[in-house]
Amino acid sequence: MIQSIREQNSLLVLSEIINQYTISRAKISENTGLNKATVSEIVKQLITDHYVIETGAGTSTPSGGRKPIMLTLNHQAGVAVSFDIRYNRLSYLVTYLNGEKIERHSREIEVNKHTVIPLISEVYKALHERYSDLPFSIIGVTASIHGIVDQNHILLTPYFDLDEIELAEKLQEHLQIPVFIENEANLAALAELSFNPYRSHLISFSAHTGIGAGIILDQQLYKGFKGRAGEVGHTVLYPEGKLCACGNHGCFEQYCSVTAFVNRMHTLKKDHTLSLDSIAALYRNDDSQTQQFLNQYSKEVAIGLTNLIGLYDPQIVYLNSEIFELFPDSLEQIDQYIQQTIYKDVSVLPSQLGSDASLYGGAVLCLKNYFKVETFAFPQSTA
Ligand SMILES: [Zn+2]
Repeated sequence: MIQSIREQNSLLVLSEIINQYTISRAKISENTGLNKATVSEIVKQLITDHYVIETGAGTSTPSGGRKPIMLTLNHQAGVAVSFDIRYNRLSYLVTYLNGEKIERHSREIEVNKHTVIPLISEVYKALHERYSDLPFSIIGVTASIHGIVDQNHILLTPYFDLDEIELAEKLQEHLQIPVFIENEANLAALAELSFNPYRSHLISFSAHTGIGAGIILDQQLYKGFKGRAGEVGHTVLYPEGKLCACGNHGCFEQYCSVTAFVNRMHTLKKDHTLSLDSIAALYRNDDSQTQQFLNQYSKEVAIGLTNLIGLYDPQIVYLNSEIFELFPDSLEQIDQYIQQTIYKDVSVLPSQLGSDASLYGGAVLCLKNYFKVETFAFPQSTA
């Protein structure tokens, strides 16, 4: 937590510097309404406290005035650490304070309520040693959860038992640092926003083991009453359809998750050894059954997306799944379907960050909490 910045004005100035990337004192004064002397005094303190650095002269004023000194976030003053926790894999990402990647690792390992704390603690200990010389060291840790999360508390993890422990609390005890936990699709949405802050309404749609969507309204993550906003996996695609683990029939997830995609191809081809990669190979070799299936799959995803678009009215929808990476035609088919609806002005695009989106979102959550700012924009080139 920031100890030395108590006043609202300091936060206002810092928020301007973070979200404009580089800015002069005069421009901060203009944007915030604070007078120049106040801005100068605050900036002086921010520089002393390692939050901000000067980056040399900017462009001169239209009237030919002196070139102002530009200010920017001292992004190498600390690091954010985020983990992505899946039942069979633990990944982590370390970034500077501007979202720039320093290191990312992934390990195939069974994660459950007994192993998760020792696994994360071991990684954290090594990272803490590596980054303890930086002025702010590690500013926080975020864990991305494939399940429903409400107010730093896991409500449901359908594919493993993490919902049986108070993960954030226990980690905080072990690591002695602020720990944030959040749903993976919500984090992916935060990351998409930070890398494209000019879109104030967006949806990030993920299809992995399950299906989920993160929703940004007016630049803020919309979570609903109990963290379930965007939990579209159990909305119904076919009322008389397949039985789902949730007890209902015909859930979206039963047709369009990666697991469902592979299982459907197993049934279609009567071959239970097919992997996503081998299905992609069939597709590239113009296998007509696979092509027909992909068309049907894209249409089903598009129906689910159309419902989401109708509910939340985003400017843009980012799609995040190995399926869209391996079958780029699917993106085109989905877009074509949406073009035939009244939502044709909504852009449907592949994720800007791919499989690392929720990890970058974890960094955003650490940063927003550490700097106490409402939005945190990353320079476009850092990912
Ligand atoms: Zn269901």
